[in-house]
Amino acid sequence: MKWKSLLTVIALSFSIILAEKARFDFYRVYEISVDNDVQLNLMKQISDYPDGYQFLSSSPPFTGIKTQLIVPPHKFGEWSELVENFDLQVKLINNNLQASLDREEACYNRRKADERDFNSFWRYEEIQSWFQEKVAERPNDLSIFSIGTSYEGNEINGLRINVGNQTGKPSIFIEATIHGGEWLGATSTINIINEMLINNYTHLSYFDWYFLPVLNVDGFKYAWSNNRFWRKTRKPNNSLLCVGADPNRNSDIHWNESSVSANPCSNNYPGDYAFSEPEIKNLSEFMKTVPNLKIYLSFHTFGQFFMIPTGFTDDRIENYQLHYEIGEIANAAITEATGAIYQLGPIPEFFGLVSGISFDWVFENIKPVLTYCWELRPTRGEVESELDPVSSKLIEPTAKDMYAAVTTVIDEAEIRGVV
Ligand SMILES: [Zn+2]
Repeated sequence: MKWKSLLTVIALSFSIILAEKARFDFYRVYEISVDNDVQLNLMKQISDYPDGYQFLSSSPPFTGIKTQLIVPPHKFGEWSELVENFDLQVKLINNNLQASLDREEACYNRRKADERDFNSFWRYEEIQSWFQEKVAERPNDLSIFSIGTSYEGNEINGLRINVGNQTGKPSIFIEATIHGGEWLGATSTINIINEMLINNYTHLSYFDWYFLPVLNVDGFKYAWSNNRFWRKTRKPNNSLLCVGADPNRNSDIHWNESSVSANPCSNNYPGDYAFSEPEIKNLSEFMKTVPNLKIYLSFHTFGQFFMIPTGFTDDRIENYQLHYEIGEIANAAITEATGAIYQLGPIPEFFGLVSGISFDWVFENIKPVLTYCWELRPTRGEVESELDPVSSKLIEPTAKDMYAAVTTVIDEAEIRGVV
């Protein structure tokens, strides 16, 4: 065999290996009550040394709330011993994760590629082409903005709405899908844009809006192509074995202090250094250029939490009361719209201290008046559907929750004259 053809064969073999998708055949998902510090430490050790275990939620395990854990078949023996030794209260919620994913994927595949189904998950390219359509419809009011490129060279694009293209308006920035597999953040953002344009939302013209439905583009695309539960970025880190950092631990705000793991293979590895991930560095640089930022909002999944900064300290922020009062009114609006209940409060109240997160960095450095972050549906205590929290059945109700929440936050801020 000639060298050239041998190299072609090798290249083809590599491309086949690279394109292969992670499978979850007979993986189980357990819901766990974490009731004491010993059990919490066990969860933290599982997070530090995952070896196939994976937590479903973006937010860390904490005492008093339930946590959902994927357990791979090679861990069944070990897991049953841990359950017994640590006296864990567990409930099996899925006994073959791959079968559920296959059913969900069959739903995606039934949809035609060019069909704009707002109750379906969209690929990154579909989001981009929808943006282009919208801009073409209203070129004077809408434009596409970029915060820069990802590690893999993807353009990190969002949609800007500035009716009449005027300067001097107060700005609002909505950030979603910093974690690759948290697609409900992207669909909620898209649905909010769509509803606001269709309804001609009262304050649409008053603000300069920046919607960024997918911040971690590489991780999002990888979740589509390779692993539905991918969380991190895709930049190689200082290990040979694993890739990526937890982008929501990577900001230069008390970096590497709390809720992080030193293991580069952990989902909470904060990166080799602060702002090591281009997506997060780009976001910080871009935020410095957004004029007159008044409100910054961020979507994650899951747990139904409505969160107020900051994560790195228990101390209350200066305008905590304003955040809380507006939060309570927005929470009531969610419940009126859909019946859903979100728990309102500062991050550490739900998860303990968490450092290096993007919206804390924005709140402390760019100083918008209001900053909120939501953990979207479902709750962490009532995961009932076999595929929660990644089921497309959650797209519509979650988008309704967030449309009510976001518009109410803005209405209230405007009524109070703080934006
Ligand atoms: Zn997240």
